[in-house]
Amino acid sequence: VVEARDVVLSFGQTPALRGANLAIARGEIVAIMGPSGSGKSTLLHCLAGILTPDSGEVRFDGLRVDQLRETERSALRRDRFGFVFQFGQLVPELTAEENVALPLLLGGARRAAALSEARGWFGRLGLDGLEGRRSGELSGGQAQRVALARALVAKPDVLFADEPTGSLDSLTGEQVIEMLVASAREQGTTVVIVTHEPRVAACADREVVVRDGKVSGLSLGRVAS
Ligand code: ATP
Ligand code: MG
Repeated sequence: VVEARDVVLSFGQTPALRGANLAIARGEIVAIMGPSGSGKSTLLHCLAGILTPDSGEVRFDGLRVDQLRETERSALRRDRFGFVFQFGQLVPELTAEENVALPLLLGGARRAAALSEARGWFGRLGLDGLEGRRSGELSGGQAQRVALARALVAKPDVLFADEPTGSLDSLTGEQVIEMLVASAREQGTTVVIVTHEPRVAACADREVVVRDGKVSGLSLGRVAS
């Protein structure tokens, strides 16, 4: 469903991707590992249509994401993708439930319906009672779970997560990942997750390693059908 073919991307003189290849099947949960600076985030951003490669192809459902115009790409991101990033991703002016409802509101849902759908996630993620808090009034782990709910609320086809447990202790991090994987499997969501944690990668169907801007050292976990 998501594919990178010979993707090359440099930031000025710094080559970040030097011919990266990765194909991810529908419903598959793939962990991207690899050393710092190897190009993991850049690869994720290319797959998600946030960055455009210098050369190579990026496909979603056969669609050439790298050839779309910016308006089409933002529509694709809004309608089909969900994102969880490492830091500061909640809108501080909004309450937790408004943050979660945001993708639905951007998608044209009515406010009452969006908020009620959003509230449904709080119980599932152990966030009961926190609906009205602003992001500054949440702990790191709570904010991370709110961000996760926001990424999943619009039932994306693909969830992209860049070190979603980066700022969490390992116990909370593991709980976040367990919830992420469980929700994804329930909804049939394809998940691409960048992580340094072998325990997080162990929850995935497959692990790939990015080294020097290439996807290498393919190690298979449980292979998705
Ligand atoms: P980490 O594990 O530390 O997050 P990463 O594997 O995600 O690392 P990338 O962020 O993809 O690595 O970066 C790959 C290379 O591109 C690095 O050399 C980095 O310094 C460079 N790079 C990334 N983003 C930019 C940018 N916006 N401008 C310039 N160089 C960048
Ligand atoms: Mg990174």
